[in-house]
Amino acid sequence: DAAIRLGKRYGFYSRRYDRYTEERLTILTELRLALETGALQLYYQPKAIMRDGRLVTTGVEALLRWEHPERGMIAPEIFIPLAEQTDVIHQLTLWVITNAADDLTRFRLLQRDLSMAINISPRNLLTKGLDAHLQSTLLARNLSFESVILELTETSVMDSEREGLLTLDRLKELGFPLSIDDFGTGYSSLAYLQKMPLSEVKIDKSLIKDVCTSRSSQIIVKAAIDMSHSLGYTVVAEGIEQQAQLDLLVSMGCDCMQGFFIATPMPSDQLFGWLQQDSERMRPTGAG
Ligand code: C2E
Ligand code: MG
Ligand code: MG
Ligand code: MG
Repeated sequence: DAAIRLGKRYGFYSRRYDRYTEERLTILTELRLALETGALQLYYQPKAIMRDGRLVTTGVEALLRWEHPERGMIAPEIFIPLAEQTDVIHQLTLWVITNAADDLTRFRLLQRDLSMAINISPRNLLTKGLDAHLQSTLLARNLSFESVILELTETSVMDSEREGLLTLDRLKELGFPLSIDDFGTGYSSLAYLQKMPLSEVKIDKSLIKDVCTSRSSQIIVKAAIDMSHSLGYTVVAEGIEQQAQLDLLVSMGCDCMQGFFIATPMPSDQLFGWLQQDSERMRPTGAG
């Protein structure tokens, strides 16, 4: 499976299965510890819209980073799938919510209506406490529920149990915008897209990668944009790495852009500087 493949690449996998299981348990134990020792960090990647020919940051996505004392930086693709198999994912998500909300309060000193996107695991929807924690965290900081976008991957939502879907309905009713992440990697149907209480669709970077060179990618992306718009959803393109991709997506009517070409994920201090530059550029008297 994917975790094993990735684990192999990162060198903590060995051929013997019991060894692998042992490593997995070690990682999970260390992850619990990391939560307490401050070894986890949030990076933020801007989401931008095109306004008068300029990119303006309207939101950021919180992305977890784990600086391991011996292994170095461990990618979320390694430890999130492991955490998702256990209850560790709950503590992790609560930690992300609290810290992202704290940072959003700071960022909003520079950008009053900035939004924050948080990635939510399907397992999070099955435990009581997610919506209570979201509500109390935001209320305590005077942040509106509309300002925190909850991103769920396409496959995770499709596979969700009834219980999970009920949680989604409740969150939507409270005013949290729901976003379908990695759209185009699952097996969505029109009926499914229409049934979900969505606000936003994020087209997966695998489709964006070839959008300029593959006619079929282009057709699928255009159809996804038009269909999402017809259903009243905002469309975000993730994984924009080139000017040509940006230009094409803008011309196709894509609402919001994200990718290394615009900005890579960065620590909060750096994002603060990014927003500062953004607001200086937008000031009418500012240079150029
Ligand atoms: P995602 O939510 O789809 O996030 C987008 C991923 O694509 C991020 O990887 C981001 O760094 C990367 N990316 C952004 N722009 C580009 C680009 O132009 N080109 C390419 N090649 N990649 C780009 P990252 O940070 O490694 O996160 C990977 C995945 O791990 C995320 O995918 C998300 O599913 C999960 N994840 C990260 N943080 C959290 C978290 O706090 N909670 C949960 N449940 N999952 C998380
Ligand atoms: Mg995401
Ligand atoms: Mg994604
Ligand atoms: Mg992803």
